[in-house]
This record gives sequence, C-alpha cells and structure tokens, in this order.
Amino acid sequence: MDKYDLIVVGGGASGLMASGFAAQNGAKVLLLEKMSRPGRKLRITGKGRCNLTNLTTIDDFLTHVNQAEFLKPAFNAFFAEDLISFFNAINIKTKTERGRRVFPQSDKAQDIVDGLEKWILKQGVQIKKNARVNKLFTRNGYISGLRLQKGKMFFADKIILCTGGTSYPATGSTGDGYKLLKTLGLQITEIKPALVPIIVKGKLPAKLNRLSLKNINLEVYKNKNLVAEKFGEMQFLNHGLSGPIILSLSRMLNKELSTGTLFDLSIDLKPALSEVKLQNRFQREIENIRYLDVQGLLRKLLPAQLVQVFLDRLKMDARKLASKLNQNEIKKIILLLKDFRFQTTGLRGFDEAIITSGGVDLNEVNPETMESRLIKNLYLAGEMLDLDADTGGYNLQIAFSTGRLAAMAATNKLKRDGK
Ligand SMILES: Cc1cc2nc3c(=O)[nH]c(=O)nc-3n(C[C@H](O)[C@H](O)[C@H](O)COP(=O)(O)OP(=O)(O)OC[C@H]3O[C@@H](n4cnc5c(N)ncnc54)[C@H](O)[C@@H]3O)c2cc1C
Repeated sequence: MDKYDLIVVGGGASGLMASGFAAQNGAKVLLLEKMSRPGRKLRITGKGRCNLTNLTTIDDFLTHVNQAEFLKPAFNAFFAEDLISFFNAINIKTKTERGRRVFPQSDKAQDIVDGLEKWILKQGVQIKKNARVNKLFTRNGYISGLRLQKGKMFFADKIILCTGGTSYPATGSTGDGYKLLKTLGLQITEIKPALVPIIVKGKLPAKLNRLSLKNINLEVYKNKNLVAEKFGEMQFLNHGLSGPIILSLSRMLNKELSTGTLFDLSIDLKPALSEVKLQNRFQREIENIRYLDVQGLLRKLLPAQLVQVFLDRLKMDARKLASKLNQNEIKKIILLLKDFRFQTTGLRGFDEAIITSGGVDLNEVNPETMESRLIKNLYLAGEMLDLDADTGGYNLQIAFSTGRLAAMAATNKLKRDGK
C-alpha cells in the first residue's frame, strides 16, 4: 500500500501543471498516466506547434469561453502572461503570432511536453505510466484513494482528477473521468464533440480535400434567418467542412447541429468586392484577354480546384467565350461567388473533435479551489469540466490555469491541516 499527500490522475496539460505545482508547494505527489507517456494530446496540439495560450486581456478571453464567471478565480491567479513567464523560466521561449496566439519559439509541441515532464521530475513528482485508474474510493464524504485497472491501490489525502474529455481518444482521453465520477454520484452534463468538422449534404469532390479558403465571409441561415456570420479561413475535407471559422461555428451551434437542425452555409468568396466591382472586374478581364473563355475567367477568380465545381454548379460550358456571356450568365457567376452554398447535416464524431463540450457539472465544483462540493479533498481540472472555448490557445490556458489552481488550493489546505 503506497501513501502520498496528493495524487494527480492524468498526465495531460492540466495534470502535468497540477502535479508540478503541487510538488513545488511541498507535497509528496504521484502522477498516474494510463498511456506509456504523458502529454500525448499536448504533443499534437496546434498541428504539432502547440498554441499555448492567447495573449489577450482576461475580459476578452472570457468572451471566447462558455462559462466565464467560473473561470475568473483561476485566471486571476494564473493567466496568459504568467504562463509565458512560467515557460520562459523552464527554458522554453515563446513567440506571439497573428491573433495574439502564443507558440513555443521552436514551433515544436514536443518541447512543451518534454519541458513539463523534466520540470515535474525536478519538483520531485513520481510518475507512474501505463497506470489506468478505474476506481475511486471515498470515506465519510472524503476521497481516500483509488485503484488501478491492474489492481494496485493507492491512498492520498487529496486527489486531483485531470482525465480530459472524450475527443481524440487515441491520445488516452476516453472519458474515464466521467465514469469514475458518476459512480460517486457527481453530475455530468451531456457531452458532445465540439470544434469538430461539419458534415454537409452531398458528396464533396475529392479534389477539394484539404483546400483552404482564406479571407472569406460565412453567413449561416436557419429557416432563411441569418443566425451567425464569421470572417476568416475555412477548409474542405472529404467528408465535410473544417478550418477555424467552421470549427468555431461547430462549437457555437453544437447542440442544434448534433440533433440534426439544418443550417444553410453561404460562403462569400469575394467579400471585399461588391457585385458592381465584380462586374467591372469581369469586364476588365474580358477586354484584356481576347479569347478568354469561362474556365479562364473563373481561374482568375478562384483556386484551381474550385473551377470545375463552379462550372458544374453553373451548368456552363467551360470553353464558351467570356465575351459572349449575357447579363444573366454574368449575374449567375457573380451570385455564386458571393453565395456559394452548402447545407449542414450534422457533426463529425469525437475522433475528430478538438474538444469535448459538456462534462463535470460546474455547480458541483468550487471555482475558488476546483474542489468538488460533494466529495471533499477531490479536485477536478481541465477539459473534463463542463468548460469549452474557441480555437486560439484558449483551451490549453483553461487546462493550465485550472490545473494550477487545484494544485495550489489542495496543497495550501494540506499545509493548513498540518500535513
Ligand atoms: C488535434 C488537437 C489539437 C489541439 N490544439 C490545441 C491548441 O493548439 N491550443 C489549445 O489551446 N488547445 C488545443 N487543443 C485542445 C487541448 O489539447 C485540450 O483542451 C487539452 O489538452 C486538455 O487538457 P487536459 O489535461 O484537461 O486533458 P488531456 O490533455 O486530454 O489529458 C488527459 C490525460 O489523462 C489521461 N487519462 C485519461 N483517463 C485516465 C485514467 N483512467 N487513468 C490515468 N490517466 C488517464 C490521458 O491519457 C491523458 O494523458 C487541441 C486538441 C486536439 C485534439
């Protein structure tokens, strides 16, 4: 039987942070990670570059999350600038890019994982890998210990659960925490994939796969009423649409999209050009090139992969001379450039979701400490909580800040109790 002051379950972003700060604050800490290495998800964040945080104000940051009030104490204690200083202090330099997104200067997420692992070992954390927790024990309303799938039991005064959500399950985040907590009577709100590609009606041409469209304007209609508008970058995939503005939309309309509400997505491929300006541009192109055909005209306005898709939708002959287009045909092309439409049919699954929305009911967690209001000495941090945010470094900052707050609250309590 092994006894620790504090056990952290899950070695992701929140668990690495929690275990290191708990040990730094004087506790004897064990970190249990079910995979063969901690930080598997962290390693693939930001397309392998790890968008650590977003260097904005707390107020602005909170407009990108679902539960602003709950996060205030965690952010007041440790926010973006603190996180950057922390990484700098462990010899990881950072840089800030467009949209105030912060990355390691090396552009390598693995450096973040390695840096954190090295730091927690230096603080004296013991790491046990391939250690999947499958039972939590309580005594008189207090957490008392846990059992691994392989049978071994561990006991501690405090336990911090950082098992993440259910998205990208191959990284180890398979929703274990929800099951563990349900058996203790805690409420888990409905979980859904979020920041996930949106499926659209009809088969998308294979040649569009991975095509990114930058600086487009997206309007979203429900029953012909405009319900959302976004400007930025999107991407086509074989099975649907993705990219920053689509992922953000998937989070915003998460509930309705997952229950089959249909939305019309109208893409304006030329938001900077009015219909009149586009008409003038057509005229110029036609005057400049004598034998310009419709295909050639479209090539001047669209990425090559989209030209055939446009020709099919317009039902126009690619070889027709652009100078021979009548006003109606020109209008049809302009309309399609300004209103390239798709109808949504649903969301892709957890395998492709950047985050899980829903989770541990926040009414049952004290935001000042991250301690469960139902089970004393049990702390919860990271994505397993009913917290979610946009892309842009917001989700990792939530994991880091809540993990640190749980560690500091739990270890300060240990000190107060004279343990
Ligand atoms: C492809 C991708 C890219 C992303 N990019 C970014 C980005 O650039 N910026 C950003 O802010 N966010 C990004 N995110 C989101 C971000 O990675 C998560 O929000 C964050 O990792 C959550 O941290 P966490 O510690 O709560 O959970 P996780 O990182 O999921 O860690 C949970 C850990 O718990 C372990 N575990 C689970 N169950 C058990 C158990 N029973 N016993 C022991 N251990 C267990 C898991 O193996 C895992 O290591 C990305 C997500 C994905 C999938």
